[in-house]
Amino acid sequence: MEHQALHDALTGLPNRILLRNRLEHAIQMTRRQAGFPALLFLDLDNFKAINDSLGHAVGDRVLLEVAARLQGCLRPGDTVARFGGDEFAVLLPCLPASEVATAVAERILETVQAPLLIDGRELVVGVSIGIACLCQGAEGPDDLLRNADVAMYHAKEQGKGRYALFEPRMHTAALARLELTADLRQALECEQFALCYQPVVSFADSRITGVEALLRWNHPRRGILLPGAFLALAEETGLILPIGRWVLRTACRQARIWLDQFPSDPPLTMSVNLSARQLQQPSLVDDVAAALEAAQLPPAYLILEIAEHLLLDGTSAIVAQLARLKQLGVQLAIDDFGTGYSSLGYLRRFPVDLLKIDRSFVQGIEHSSEQMAVLEAVIALGKTLNLSTIAEGIELSQHRDRVRQLGCDAGQGYYYTRPLGERDMTALLADVLSAVAPAPAPGRDYPSLARSSGAPQ
Ligand code: C2E
Ligand code: MG
Ligand code: MG
Repeated sequence: MEHQALHDALTGLPNRILLRNRLEHAIQMTRRQAGFPALLFLDLDNFKAINDSLGHAVGDRVLLEVAARLQGCLRPGDTVARFGGDEFAVLLPCLPASEVATAVAERILETVQAPLLIDGRELVVGVSIGIACLCQGAEGPDDLLRNADVAMYHAKEQGKGRYALFEPRMHTAALARLELTADLRQALECEQFALCYQPVVSFADSRITGVEALLRWNHPRRGILLPGAFLALAEETGLILPIGRWVLRTACRQARIWLDQFPSDPPLTMSVNLSARQLQQPSLVDDVAAALEAAQLPPAYLILEIAEHLLLDGTSAIVAQLARLKQLGVQLAIDDFGTGYSSLGYLRRFPVDLLKIDRSFVQGIEHSSEQMAVLEAVIALGKTLNLSTIAEGIELSQHRDRVRQLGCDAGQGYYYTRPLGERDMTALLADVLSAVAPAPAPGRDYPSLARSSGAPQ
């Protein structure tokens, strides 16, 4: 029974409890001998996929093989433990230098990641390793376990199939992430999200033809956060799904309000950005339909923006998803166009209506003729596809003039205005879209659009 309590049933390796005991012992020994213990924390990279696609019996055999290979990499006195699932740990009880631990990690990477044969099928199992060394003798076993775990996470983040040696800054970063994740979980419930809106201005008549909804997080301690500060975390945790539904509902509702307040011809459009996770979600079409229905918004006035790089993988599933969205009657735009290096043939497969040319192509054209040539090529590419083009990041009148000359249909950027809160945007629309406002002379902008109005948001 004691053996059972301290060992893993599948592999027979020591379990977490036994490894922790041995680690504690190794830490105590540092008082009496030179050298220090190191802990390697291992997590297989693609084990879930193997288990899901080939079944648990194959999964178990992979784990047994990995256990045997790990044991083959070590010397007597070292401990390999299985922590459950696809997690293993290695204790090197007494090292003269941390380089020995990294050399062991390199050996493990090479050995574990060599192809293995199961039922005549060749499999490659990736592994990520975090290493923590007890160099100052100040920490206890749990600190070392936690540090190795944090370093392992870092190795995964750096691209998997590699090792990372713990550094204190990783801990600070991991804590900040944990804290932000906890805050993010509450943010929806506490109504801390808001949408800002940035107008899209048509070059043909200098009118506002639509607005893009941009997400803001009113963080209780850190103030207003831009999507760059939390979107990746929301994506990783899946929280982007409820947040994305909130964005869709809120934007559609606002679009309906502005359509009623400021009828124009053609009517104002509302653009909403979609994330990778949302795009993969089979329920996306229902979510969009529900948001349109709740707001009584005709589908044609909603534009869904999808970043170009999201279209580069998983094409057939994504093409099907886009086709279903198109069937609803909404418009589709490729966002950040030009940054994803898609080929023309590839882009033709997607049922899109608009291209939004990434601001990196617009900015700097005033200084560089090469930059200008690239912009010209990107716009030409969009026109070849016969799609409407919107240039993002118009900050100067030169930007506006140049993209218009090159044949872009519309522009968006700080030159017109930064993203505005709902109230400021309503005031701006009232200013330029109300029935009494005269249209500007051709080639001119509305005075209230030509200056950057409102506080930056
Ligand atoms: P995006 O869709 O390409 O949006 C344009 C971004 O450029 C916005 O940044 C906007 O504030 C900024 N911008 C507009 N004009 C200018 C300009 O003249 N100069 C410069 N330098 N920047 C300009 P923001 O609001 O920080 O959003 C960043 C990205 O976050 C967006 O890029 C979009 O991909 C994503 N995002 C924003 N809201 C949402 C959302 O509700 N859901 C999802 N999934 N993603 C969102
Ligand atoms: Mg966008
Ligand atoms: Mg963009």
